[in-house]
Amino acid sequence: MRPLRNHRMALTDYKGKRNFKITPEPQGSGNHRRAPQLSFVVQKHRASHLHYDFRLEWNGALLSWAIPKGPSLDPSIKRLAMAVEDHPLDYGGFEGIIPEGQYGGGTVMVWDRGTWQSENPDVDTCLKKGELKFVLHGSKLKGSWVLVRTKGAQKSARSAWLLMKHKDRYASLQDITSSKARSVLSRRSMAGIAAAYGGDVAKAAESDSE
Ligand code: MN
Repeated sequence: MRPLRNHRMALTDYKGKRNFKITPEPQGSGNHRRAPQLSFVVQKHRASHLHYDFRLEWNGALLSWAIPKGPSLDPSIKRLAMAVEDHPLDYGGFEGIIPEGQYGGGTVMVWDRGTWQSENPDVDTCLKKGELKFVLHGSKLKGSWVLVRTKGAQKSARSAWLLMKHKDRYASLQDITSSKARSVLSRRSMAGIAAAYGGDVAKAAESDSE
């Protein structure tokens, strides 16, 4: 029996059988990096009101939605997700305190983080159409989801979308925002983050039980 061959060997065979001056077939990139992984992050943010900032890496920035109630694993529940301004990529690692009086002043937790994949590679068209289906590979959020823009909202900057879980093996009636309330970065609670960074611990503690 022939031994199992790895992908590099297989590609060498592929290339050896073809004259790329003649055939229009792809030559292969020559390196074997996987497709770039796009990150996502969900930040629990106790500003004037508690919400969860849901962010998907796209085109070198983080597309962002503010979800007042946070994501739900129950496919029968639609969660309002207000589109907000894109954020820089490195914002996805931010956990701490935004000073009172500043925009969004309050406590920020990295509630979940991971990678995401769009079902349709043409993400820009999906966003324009107002329906983006994707898979999350996070610590808490996994499986298939969809963001759908509500009718009437059209293309305004702060359009209203709905975030929904699709039925799959990660769908659940578990109340994930309360059963897995702690930071995936630090394991801290909101009060713990406020205490660590000199924020308003009492205000942050309220959001630990909301
Ligand atoms: Mn926010």
